[in-house]
Amino acid sequence: MEKLHVGFDDTDSRKGGCTTYVAALIIEQLSKLRVSFFDYPFLVRLNPNVPWKTRGNGALCLRILCEPQQIDEVKEVVAETVEKESELSEAGTEPGIVFFKGEVLSAVEAFAERTMTSVVTKKEALKLIKKHNAEAIRFKTGRGIIGGLAAIGAQLKGDHTFELIAYRTKQNRGTPRKIDGSSVLQMERQLGRQVFNNVDPETGRVLITPRGPDPVLYGIRGETAEAVKRGHEIVVSHEPIERWTIFKTNQGTDAHLKRAVSISDVKPYNPVIIRGEVAAKPRVIQGGHVVFQIRDNTGKVDCAAYEPTGTLRDLAMKLIQGDLVEIYGGVRPKSQTNPMTVNAEKIHLIKPAVLLVYRNPLCPSCGKRMKSMGRGQGFECLKCGFHGKTLKKTVYEIERPLKPGLYATSPHSQRHLTKPLLRYGLEKTGNTRLDEQVLPYKFFYGH
Ligand code: ZN
Repeated sequence: MEKLHVGFDDTDSRKGGCTTYVAALIIEQLSKLRVSFFDYPFLVRLNPNVPWKTRGNGALCLRILCEPQQIDEVKEVVAETVEKESELSEAGTEPGIVFFKGEVLSAVEAFAERTMTSVVTKKEALKLIKKHNAEAIRFKTGRGIIGGLAAIGAQLKGDHTFELIAYRTKQNRGTPRKIDGSSVLQMERQLGRQVFNNVDPETGRVLITPRGPDPVLYGIRGETAEAVKRGHEIVVSHEPIERWTIFKTNQGTDAHLKRAVSISDVKPYNPVIIRGEVAAKPRVIQGGHVVFQIRDNTGKVDCAAYEPTGTLRDLAMKLIQGDLVEIYGGVRPKSQTNPMTVNAEKIHLIKPAVLLVYRNPLCPSCGKRMKSMGRGQGFECLKCGFHGKTLKKTVYEIERPLKPGLYATSPHSQRHLTKPLLRYGLEKTGNTRLDEQVLPYKFFYGH
């Protein structure tokens, strides 16, 4: 038996389609060829801050175990399905497929890492593909080979999660999704922290159903394949489910964020975790967004909480000069109107600054608050006439309306990769499949 990794990306457009659905269709075709899988299908979210992303910037990889003489047939099935199901007529849809035989090399793994945290070029992908005897199929410009190769290289050996995606039948696509909201709440109650981002705690809105014309009915995110399968069994759908697939994924793991040593290291399109001191009082800009600057001894950078409502914006509003914070987020380049800006996904308030106010002293004679007689002239009491030439202003420490800790955007506006606060402490440190034996289809695919 031979290992074949099949990576592909960029088959969808803003108008419809979904690369995960193409993967589901390929899995069905491959099941007919009786080839095996040695791991779950991978859904790898790439750097959400690159300038050319499609909707979710997710790439797919199927990890196949087959007889050497089956390889050509597998390639044919994949190429045909990608070609047929891609939104090729749409501008910006540039599918690419990569086939890689054997063990994934560390150079490909490193490439995958960079595709999540920074910006890579198609040229780099092509060079690696050539060097390691992989094979690429490109449609149009084939930008999708970047994601295809990255999905192959992503090993998810450390933290990872799972998502079960259920798909709609053709005739229902484009219509409102018919999911029983109370069954989603029921699932959350029953499975607790084994699943995440199902319901928005602020609005009660169900988050498992996307909006738009794509074939996804719902996606259930969770810690294990078993948990998301269990969730799928609890959720009640009032429309038929065409098929479902469980993906192993880097969603909800903060895989895109890299800690920058200092503010001078912050670069456009490279999502960061950066520490600094709030330089001045935050200001509210048009649209209700909050902008503030942080500084360290290497420089300053603008940060923004882009959320008209929600917890992160509320926290940002309350920051004051001197607060020690860590900002987690993507970095937007400098534009004609704005400087380079870190778009905050999370704010860690490490040490709130002490807020002091200075007030005139109370009269030592009658207890009334006194009036200043001018700089250096002391204070006088308007009630009893007491003069205190040596009296000074009294300093009060005002209690801040916020506590140190980690604050995140509300679940409804979280990015795919953002680790929800609920996942802290549940991070995995090892691969969930070490044996690399055949994974039965029923574990990750069904109708
Ligand atoms: Zn007095």
